[in-house]
Amino acid sequence: MNQLDHTQDILRQLIAYPTISADSNLQMIEYLADYLDHVGADVLLNHARDGTKANLFATLGQGHENGVLLSGHTDVVPVADQDWSHDPFDMVERDGRLYGRGTCDMKGFIAACLTKAQDYAKLPLKTPVHFAFTYDEETGCIGAQGLAKLLQDQGITPRLAIIGEPTRMKAIEGHKGCCEYTTHFHGKAGHGSMPDIGVNAIEYAMRYGTKLMDIAQDLQGRAPENGRFAPPWTTLNIGRITGGHIHNVIPENCSMDWEFRPVQDADFSYVKNTIETYVSDTLLPEMQRRDPNANITTEIVGEVVGLEPTDQNEARDIVLELTGQNHADVVPFGTEAGIFAALGMSVVVCGPGSIEQAHKPDEFIDLSQLDACLSFLTKLESKLAA
Ligand SMILES: [Zn+2]
Repeated sequence: MNQLDHTQDILRQLIAYPTISADSNLQMIEYLADYLDHVGADVLLNHARDGTKANLFATLGQGHENGVLLSGHTDVVPVADQDWSHDPFDMVERDGRLYGRGTCDMKGFIAACLTKAQDYAKLPLKTPVHFAFTYDEETGCIGAQGLAKLLQDQGITPRLAIIGEPTRMKAIEGHKGCCEYTTHFHGKAGHGSMPDIGVNAIEYAMRYGTKLMDIAQDLQGRAPENGRFAPPWTTLNIGRITGGHIHNVIPENCSMDWEFRPVQDADFSYVKNTIETYVSDTLLPEMQRRDPNANITTEIVGEVVGLEPTDQNEARDIVLELTGQNHADVVPFGTEAGIFAALGMSVVVCGPGSIEQAHKPDEFIDLSQLDACLSFLTKLESKLAA
């Protein structure tokens, strides 16, 4: 069987595991572990605290240092409320495309990695090849953060990482961070005709939201010169507000989901400090004067650091060389790359399929993209073999 057919067979299996971030990925992890174990890799599983999900980290070759890491996430975004023309977890081939949830984001890359693992296992490897397959990327790179800790604890220090998110195999050397929060406003209920006896949670949420929008304005003025992102500043978005009951009841609870995407570390601290100060100096004292139990708490859903482009980047240079591209780009979406970069690896994002199709109904990957990925991973052998 040729490698593209083999990859397609693996991908069909991977798509059949409905690894929506909210659900367990253990069956898929078990499949990946069996497969990699079978080709001779050392396989480590790293479970989430509640045991329902796991990261997989596998190594071909000897040693803990200097390795090349291929990384992908196992989770996919939900399909509920999306209009699919077929079962999203039963892969369909049509007109040179493979349709199914996760085909491009990013089980196609994982399938290609598994196919090539068989070849890598036969090479006289000069440095180890690692495979990192994580959980909960789509909900804030939770799994990758656990994996990073595992690597640190075990003293595993790969020198470079390739993150196979869908970039149509273009080399990506930078992206913004992505920080997501849910802020809860706890007030005090009462009759709507007597606002003074209660603490209106929605009122404080609105003031908090207004402050966030002021910060969003400031961020535009803080954009670095010659920024390469589109837009070049840190963006901020309020995505959801829920709270209250009915016209005439003072709402005691309200919550707000919001996010920002820092282009630089300084903006990360600016946003957090500014909003925290507003809460502690203005909103909270007012609320608690009226009811000492009133409160505002913020839950961190995920704080994913960005990938800042750097002059020196071996991972990027290897991808450019092997794919014949002459420059690397930046993208507006977040990945696990910054987490690996923080461990000291040089990191590039490069994978098959297009982000245009990710997260949408009838998600697909072009077979030609899978083929291009296989051919890249084959050329990579020249960098791995002694
Ligand atoms: Zn992805």
